[in-house]
Amino acid sequence: MRNYKFRLYPTKIIETELNRQLDLCRWTYNKLLEELNEAKEMGIKLKRYDTQRLLVKLKEEKPELKNAYSKTLQMVNQQLWNNIHTLAGRKKKGYKIGGLRFKGYNLFKSIFYNQSGFVIGNKKIVLSKVGKVKAEFHREIKGNVKGIIITRRAERWYACVQIDDPKHEKRQIKVLPCTENKMVGLDLGLNSFVVDSNNNYVDNPRFLQKTAGKIAMIQRRLAKKKKGSNRRNKVKLRLNGAYEHLVNQRKDFAHKLSTEYVKNYGIIAVERLNIGSMARNHRLSKSIYDAAWDQFVSFLSYKAESAGRKLIKVDPNNTTQDCSVCGKKNTGHLGLSQRTFKCPNCKVELDRDYNASRNILIKALVGREPASMLVESRPILHKLKQAQTLKREAPCGSLG
Ligand SMILES: [Zn+2]
Repeated sequence: MRNYKFRLYPTKIIETELNRQLDLCRWTYNKLLEELNEAKEMGIKLKRYDTQRLLVKLKEEKPELKNAYSKTLQMVNQQLWNNIHTLAGRKKKGYKIGGLRFKGYNLFKSIFYNQSGFVIGNKKIVLSKVGKVKAEFHREIKGNVKGIIITRRAERWYACVQIDDPKHEKRQIKVLPCTENKMVGLDLGLNSFVVDSNNNYVDNPRFLQKTAGKIAMIQRRLAKKKKGSNRRNKVKLRLNGAYEHLVNQRKDFAHKLSTEYVKNYGIIAVERLNIGSMARNHRLSKSIYDAAWDQFVSFLSYKAESAGRKLIKVDPNNTTQDCSVCGKKNTGHLGLSQRTFKCPNCKVELDRDYNASRNILIKALVGREPASMLVESRPILHKLKQAQTLKREAPCGSLG
């Protein structure tokens, strides 16, 4: 499955209709959640199928629902259950979170058209119960269209066209033999986004810092505005716009970098991200970095899988203070400001993150391959290179 995202340009009348559809979907979502919660209080456990059947009852209760395309309402039920499962998964991972929340205007953003109820035409998309919406197709849509998700973000409208393309899937799974045995350990950090065990440094993208600063500024401005005032709403829109921008930039960066690593390495080792400490951190810039690392690793993970690569997540304990050259386990803690690792045992001096990335790879290989494969022809003593970005190696196969 692939997605194409296109900007939509609805007329005022169509926009009103789209907003109404969103409201109907949102009402249905909240209503189903309410029914689910009430049943739970009475000790009844409803299933996906039960809430689906409730839709008939809701239509009697609220005749306006006849103005919504029936399949999009079924997709609302699906959305609800997807959220329930995601939440359960996150709880399992150790996040401390409560139950599902009811969706306010700004939290419900998407209408799902699955399989039917839409036609893609020349410079427009026709949606059942809505009408024609002008669309800007900046690229050709190839393959079978499985569905369309209409999204409202910061008062802009988008269509996410979902394509089912078996040819594309096959291409992704292809193993690239020439780099199969190459391996790399990655240390994710604040100084560089990635330092790898082959001594490549990928700088932190400046937009993370820049947009984080901008978001913080808008948030401060928002705090000064009166609740419910027009000005406050305007500032809120700007804030949503800034978030949207950040999300797009971050995704783009994570895609490029993860593709690069999956293309060039057969085995990739990373630290298991420490979710406990992530959830506790309330600093905005830190939370933005956390999200960026998390996304990068999740892209690495699915791309590695579809390309037949191995992604190994290791325990992050002691990767900073152990010596990656002689293997000595050092007890002293390395302060964050200390950029150089000095081994008291073998006296080697390495960049702190480079040492960590080598330890990450060693941990991943323990019990798998002889660790000697790691220490190849790289010079052990190296100068700190701050600005060097990831070296591009000749691609030996294509990965989407
Ligand atoms: Zn040492």
